[in-house]
Amino acid sequence: MSRNAESTAFRSALEVIRAVEPRVADAIGAELTDQRESLKLIASENYASPATLLAMGNWFSDKYAEGTVGRRFYAGCQNVDTVEALAAEHARELFGAAHAYVQPHSGIDANLVAFWAVLADRVESPALKKAQVRQVNDLTEADWFALRRELGNQRMLGMSLDAGGHLTHGFRPNISGKMFDQRSYGTDPATGLIDYDRVAEAAREFKPLILVGGYSAYPRKVNFRILREIADSVGATFMVDMAHFAGLVAGKVFTGDFDPVPHAHIVTTTTHKSLRGPRGGMVLCQPELADQVDRGCPMVLGGPLPHVMAAKAVALAEARRPDFADYAQRIVDNAQALAEGLLRRGAKLVTGGTDNHLVLIDVSGYGLTGRQAEQALLDSGIVTNRNSVPQDPNGAWYTSGIRIGTPALTTRGLGIAEMDQTAELIHTVLAQTTAGANADGTPSKAKYTLDPDLADKIARQATDLLAPHPLYPAIDLS
Ligand code: PLP
Repeated sequence: MSRNAESTAFRSALEVIRAVEPRVADAIGAELTDQRESLKLIASENYASPATLLAMGNWFSDKYAEGTVGRRFYAGCQNVDTVEALAAEHARELFGAAHAYVQPHSGIDANLVAFWAVLADRVESPALKKAQVRQVNDLTEADWFALRRELGNQRMLGMSLDAGGHLTHGFRPNISGKMFDQRSYGTDPATGLIDYDRVAEAAREFKPLILVGGYSAYPRKVNFRILREIADSVGATFMVDMAHFAGLVAGKVFTGDFDPVPHAHIVTTTTHKSLRGPRGGMVLCQPELADQVDRGCPMVLGGPLPHVMAAKAVALAEARRPDFADYAQRIVDNAQALAEGLLRRGAKLVTGGTDNHLVLIDVSGYGLTGRQAEQALLDSGIVTNRNSVPQDPNGAWYTSGIRIGTPALTTRGLGIAEMDQTAELIHTVLAQTTAGANADGTPSKAKYTLDPDLADKIARQATDLLAPHPLYPAIDLS
């Protein structure tokens, strides 16, 4: 395929959009410019391939296809069947999973599908049975009350939010925290690492129905074999949310005890982070849960997104190629180089380094909150996100951490040398930023001072660093 084809495809698409609403075409073009010019270190973001992006922009979007392959509630779904079956086949082969359900629209949907599947599998509830046999419309208000009562007080044990867990793992503001009585396991305050003995102790005391492994902001490998043993010892179903590190599993960087698929009963993921696919979710599971998982629609989901399933099939096919394993290894090599560069310059890192795609800087070492650091870096053309650190004194809004990740820069082709330069830019900004004060003189958690000339200089250096590694090099919209 000629590189020209990609350029022609996107230029033509924008021309068609421009004829209807030019401001949307302009925004799409501006987004490409912004992404090209900024040093993107958001650990949960990436750049999908042109083939993946194009698979989403078509008439598959027009199709309703509730149900599963070959068993739809709508007529004319033969082509949706083709792409859904392909995506599921690629997912099974890639991860060595017995079953794959590729309909979830996002990671949160995938987790909800998994929770309901486990509840349906494990909890004796006549009301839930009724809901599961696709008679949701027939449920009376009394049935819903019964359902809640019968399911009530089921327990979930997951990683705490400030230790790096995700809010869908049972935290109050999320529906999972309303569905489940949740308790968390944290990390060892001295090392920042998961203490498996403490997890086992919490499991023995709490006796959860579901033990959840997986994280959004934990920079180390997790031993899923040990977590499975803990789950088995208390009769819990073991679920892993590998949303963040699915690309490292796909690329065989995480194998053996660190690959969740052979150990967990059920695994959920997003497809758009290190896996580098379209924005979406997926559930992998062992055969005994497959039937319940496939009932994601109508229990949790409505119509699937066939255009996104088509893109999932493309991205998963890409992840099965040998060069994806090389990509996954480079993600980790880059994260480790970035961590080493920061440590050498005096930064404080949670756990003192990384085994995966992310690094968590404790910016209290620079006298800043996460909010101040995030904004100062953004002023300097470096896109990151603030994040809690374990036992964070600044809470989830201001935080004391900055989470940075390498999947996106690695896709652009940046390597170890550029990671050291990136560490230098980050350190310079953080070291030169000072925390501000409120009008009454009290310390502010949001205000900060950074010399605008320095911010501009760093932004130019960031652009120079990116210049030899253009994003979507074949696409010219000018
Ligand atoms: N699970 C984990 C571990 C995540 O990090 C995230 C997103 O950040 C999600 C689930 C939710 O994914 P989505 O934003 O696609 O709903």
